[in-house]
Amino acid sequence: MYYNTIHIPAFIEAGEGILQDLDSLLEESHLFFPEKVLVTQENLYDIFKDKLSGNVFSDIIFCKGGELDEANEIIGRLRDSEAVLMAFGGGSVLDLVKYVATRINNPYLTVPSTLSNDAIYSSVARLTANMKKRSFTVQPPLGVILDLSVIKMSPRELILAGAGDLITNLSAVKDWTLAHENNRESMNELACILSKQAAISIWNYTEDELFSDNFLLDLFHGLVTSGLSMTIAGSSRSCSGSEHLVSHAIDEYFSEKATMHGIQAAWAFLEIERQIRKDAEFADRLQEFYDRIGLSKVIADMIPWKSEDLQELIPYAKRIRKRYTVLNTV
Ligand SMILES: [Zn+2]
Repeated sequence: MYYNTIHIPAFIEAGEGILQDLDSLLEESHLFFPEKVLVTQENLYDIFKDKLSGNVFSDIIFCKGGELDEANEIIGRLRDSEAVLMAFGGGSVLDLVKYVATRINNPYLTVPSTLSNDAIYSSVARLTANMKKRSFTVQPPLGVILDLSVIKMSPRELILAGAGDLITNLSAVKDWTLAHENNRESMNELACILSKQAAISIWNYTEDELFSDNFLLDLFHGLVTSGLSMTIAGSSRSCSGSEHLVSHAIDEYFSEKATMHGIQAAWAFLEIERQIRKDAEFADRLQEFYDRIGLSKVIADMIPWKSEDLQELIPYAKRIRKRYTVLNTV
């Protein structure tokens, strides 16, 4: 075998108001399915009912999202179905559908209602089982559809969380490079290039541009490219390093102090730069980016940890998974 084979989405579409055209988008992509099942949250469905009703669904399943028990329940309901699943919602709905579709071996599409993390197209689903978050390897989606008018209704903090999750790719690539140098871990250059480029694409934006088409499209494309990078890597390695370990440790061991994934990871990234990698020049530039895009304010509002708390979190972060990062050098 000389080449790697990967699954890539059959189509990626973004546009204003395209939520009502899901059927025609599938048709244009020459994708025909006997049945289409929409999986979403009831409150979200109520908000976007008018648009969604422009499409024909054989069934609509309302879910809470994010829970393994609920996913297994839906697997039971859909076991003999050949329907394509349409996941409409935030990360918790998308992760649930990714897991369900993979287990019943049906195709699925993601239609994100916000851009808060790279769940929109990735081969990892995070679900809660017995009060603990667990990661599952899943099939990537057949397609990703983004309605800009839907995303523009999502809260600012969620968009900033997405920007935070994307920028931490830079940390993950540093950790993978370090693991390659110190631990002879094999590394996939293409996965690293995509991960890094995806992060850099949002580097020059300002807070005023957060809801502009240009920024939202760059963020969307960046998160999709991150997903592709992880698919090529065969794991989350290219987009999840020491900063993600710290964020997962907060979710796992200090859930009462936990907040959005992308905000936690962005906070941890900056602290790791200052305290562990000790790259003051890069840390200053990162801080300047956080200030300019509005991440600093959201971190100050939502993160209850102080800089010095990082040291307390490191032993927990190391326990999360066997992944060599800069934390192993401490
Ligand atoms: Zn992430």
